[in-house]
Amino acid sequence: MELENILVTTVDRALDYCRSYSLWPVTFGLACCAIEMMATGGARYDISRFGYEVFRPSPRQGDLLIIAGTVTHKMAPLVKRLYEQMPSPKYVIAMGSCAMTGGPFVDSYSVLDGVDKIIPVDVYIPGCPPRPEALIEGLLKVKEMLHLAKKDRSDLK
Ligand code: SF4
Repeated sequence: MELENILVTTVDRALDYCRSYSLWPVTFGLACCAIEMMATGGARYDISRFGYEVFRPSPRQGDLLIIAGTVTHKMAPLVKRLYEQMPSPKYVIAMGSCAMTGGPFVDSYSVLDGVDKIIPVDVYIPGCPPRPEALIEGLLKVKEMLHLAKKDRSDLK
């Protein structure tokens, strides 16, 4: 008799697996780090290898917000609104030292000292600016996080 394999999983696990290979970043950039983010989408780096190339023009269609650039106090409420308009589950990458801590402008009267003061951040990518390879590493960290989340749930059983 021919043996057949059976795969048992939950809907949550299956969805997380699909999400981890098809993150949809919101098209949004704040300063010079955004140029590196745009380069990451170009042919040289080809993030479609990982399934992350579908940058969405609306926060309502994206599940990944990449904060690429300096967040000023004036822009902070708009960044928060964008985050709130995204459907859950959603993830945030702070790309570059400005997004992480205010970077070289941290002493300025107009710059927020880290985007995590207004929204939760999942992955931090240091650098001024981080290269596209670093952003790709950050995207893969989000994927890893989704896989660990699956593991955590299975540990609960
Ligand atoms: S971290 Fe450096 S490259 Fe990125 S936005 Fe700030 S000053 Fe520009």
